[in-house]
Amino acid sequence: MVVEYRTVGIARQVVTDLPGPKSQELHERRKQSVSHGLTQGFPVYIDRAEGAILVDVDGNHLLDLGSGIAVTSIGHAVPALVEAVQAQVADFTHTCFMVTPYLEYVEVCEELAAVTPGDHAKTSALFNSGAEAVENAVKIARLATGRNAIVVVDHAYHGRTNLTMALTAKNMPYKDRFGPFAPEVYRVPTSYPYRDGLSGPDAAARAIALIESTVGAQNVAAIVIEPIQGEGGFIVPAEGFLPALAEWTKKNGALFVADEIQTGFTRTGRWFAVDHEGVVPDLVTTAKGLAGGMPLAAVTGRAEIMNAVHEGGLGGTYGGNPVAAAAALATIRTMRDQNLAERARHIESIALPRLRALLGDVGIVGDVRGRGAMLAVEFVVPGSDTPNPAATKAIVEYCTKRGVVIISCGTFGNCVRLLPPLIITDEQLNDGLSVFEDAIRSIR
Ligand SMILES: *Cc1c(COP(=O)(O)O)cnc(C)c1O
Repeated sequence: MVVEYRTVGIARQVVTDLPGPKSQELHERRKQSVSHGLTQGFPVYIDRAEGAILVDVDGNHLLDLGSGIAVTSIGHAVPALVEAVQAQVADFTHTCFMVTPYLEYVEVCEELAAVTPGDHAKTSALFNSGAEAVENAVKIARLATGRNAIVVVDHAYHGRTNLTMALTAKNMPYKDRFGPFAPEVYRVPTSYPYRDGLSGPDAAARAIALIESTVGAQNVAAIVIEPIQGEGGFIVPAEGFLPALAEWTKKNGALFVADEIQTGFTRTGRWFAVDHEGVVPDLVTTAKGLAGGMPLAAVTGRAEIMNAVHEGGLGGTYGGNPVAAAAALATIRTMRDQNLAERARHIESIALPRLRALLGDVGIVGDVRGRGAMLAVEFVVPGSDTPNPAATKAIVEYCTKRGVVIISCGTFGNCVRLLPPLIITDEQLNDGLSVFEDAIRSIR
């Protein structure tokens, strides 16, 4: 593991109160021009970044345990990525692949075919955002099967566009008053071991029974599911749940669509989260970790399904933009060359035992879960499983004020997720975990 830091260094360093004076000034300015509908988050304005460190406009060095929501998995300002992007910008920035194509798009699709699960023939289509990829996966699934119904699960998050809002479970803040929503979307219970106590096969049987009785197997175009639920709370389904659903789709002429937008690209310790259980989806959606921070998303799937779409049925002005495509190629190469999947498993081996040690010791810690470098703690009211969003908020604030950037999640707003860049050093990771532990212990 060689990480070259050029200027920023590796230590967290807080030199002002957070947010600092310059950040506060920018935040006032923002209020005049940026819609107040966007999350305010923690208003620390970033000037540059390197590795796992973000440098804000006041000169504070923050430790990044969020990777911009699982995006900068290879780290910030990685030389291989910077060089690839700069070279492509100088060559050309856009032609529109539908007008005059270029090699970088094709190469990304070749890489997607190589790294996604299964060794069947695959093709891909590229888009700009995760939501756009999910929408297109639904379009493709409906066309290829000639059916309408899309099955999703509790706690699902698939995006904020009209169709993906319908797929997303949580009302606030994603859906509230933004309807009406797209029809032919059906929601069934997921597997949430901490809260339902069911085995994977039992949770799958419960979901399948509901699909068969309320939707009808013959009407289902696809089950669209995150193999580990992201925004919903990093819910890892019980073993056997995903394989049973995949098996059911196969038997009933429906498609299994894995939304690997947050879990994909080595984040969980394998190239894709479904790889942990040997599930081979018909279609896979990817985005976040794919292009090192450049906007790029994809639908990849069985060639006969992807190619069933009539010519011109898929596309978009910017989808597969050459600069984003060059970034993806550099990102995938970096993941392969530096074996970042192994690195994600190493992060798990350090972080999970430390977090698990809090279970039973600290009353607000209800559950600790996750895979690889996608880990979360679910906070509850001590002695119960009642969600504790107030403690969660206080913990996030404690950490960010000390220069450790972490993000909350969960349908009940009561989980803190850790999504460090995979190149984070052991020293940085342990430092961040110590601050997180201090935050948790400060609550009780
Ligand atoms: C983030 C996310 C999306 C939406 O991606 P955008 O790029 O924000 O549109 C969809 N599905 C999952 C699982 C995600 O984590």
